[in-house]
Amino acid sequence: MKKRQGRNLPEVRNYNRSLVLQTIRTYSPISRIELTEITSLTPTTITSLVDELIRKGLVREVGNVKGEIGRSRTLLSINNDAYYVLGIDLARTSISCGLVDLGGNLLTSKRVNSDLYQHFPITLNTLKDVVRSLLEEIEPKIRGKIIAIGIGSPGPLSPSKGIIISPPNFTGWRNIPLKEIIEREFHLPTFIENDAKACALGEKWFGSCKDIDNFVYLAIGTGVGAGIIINGEIYRGAGELAGELGHTTVDINGPKCSCGNYGCLELYTSVGSLIERIKEKLSHLIKEDPLETLSIFYRTAREGNIEAIEILNDYCFWLGVGLVNVINTFSPQAVVLGREAIINGADLIIPRVERLVRERSFSISPEQTRILASNIGKDTGVVGAATIALYEFYKNPYKMIKKEGS
Ligand SMILES: [Zn+2]
Repeated sequence: MKKRQGRNLPEVRNYNRSLVLQTIRTYSPISRIELTEITSLTPTTITSLVDELIRKGLVREVGNVKGEIGRSRTLLSINNDAYYVLGIDLARTSISCGLVDLGGNLLTSKRVNSDLYQHFPITLNTLKDVVRSLLEEIEPKIRGKIIAIGIGSPGPLSPSKGIIISPPNFTGWRNIPLKEIIEREFHLPTFIENDAKACALGEKWFGSCKDIDNFVYLAIGTGVGAGIIINGEIYRGAGELAGELGHTTVDINGPKCSCGNYGCLELYTSVGSLIERIKEKLSHLIKEDPLETLSIFYRTAREGNIEAIEILNDYCFWLGVGLVNVINTFSPQAVVLGREAIINGADLIIPRVERLVRERSFSISPEQTRILASNIGKDTGVVGAATIALYEFYKNPYKMIKKEGS
């Protein structure tokens, strides 16, 4: 028989506390009366919880606003500086680590080039070095307030087990207990998540989708993956592998992909595939840094270079095909495009894929499914990873704070 989970009194209080804290984060600045309206909790419960959160330093009063009947209402906001988390973006060509406050603001970060095709111990050492050198730069007062680490990594991985299973092309990366390794090294609770899913949650909490509860974030970088947000939460699927959109087939006669499948979307839409096209026809635009290459390429297309436009049209065709599949499967409120391919080229890419989507999908009106660019920009990986740690904090704030200073 399947067990059902009841909530006992202390858990009810924790649930309500988390709900109030989350509501303040989302709608800040917000008054106690508005909190009552949104959460359906009684004014007495709201007053008691807010007082408690202010005493703990997590919430602060930020001013007054005149109410409808002339009485002034005090506005509340999260005390962003109360605690911090680290976000680590483990990308295939670089590792970035950043300090993020409770409001999702990135305060400082470090990035080093790293080739994840190297053997795992080398990459792990680089990762630890980046974190250590960032920590050294942070003043001790703030360092002492760091309560958790979030890591975004290419999948497949298991967030619940804290294990990276076997990302395509990762030499020597098989069943790596990354959560445990980092917790042992830095003595902070650590949470890992697929990078696209982490970016999706970052976009929901701090980016272009604050008011959108059902959307798909498409991460288009060295790899291509999706983070699916349903009712405001990450959808992981039974095997925690939902969203491997880059490895869905868009050409059954296409070349073999590193995942074992053929004609995968990633082969046509990754940053690498776009750069290959540029190399073939406009090799003089190629620079060592892929982001710089793309930035020059997009500028060349904007200037009207025919070959650049042809490459762009072909690239957006495949991207559009992928989006049509996403939209027809999920009928989301929005599809958000993010990461390296989009950072400097959203103005060129969005209208092209939008046209194809309107022609080919059931979602014919922009009101049904909006196509947006991430507005977190180049830091999306770090902010997304940090959001994974913040998620755990907001779910059970006192659990993490207790560890701090102990
Ligand atoms: Zn594949």
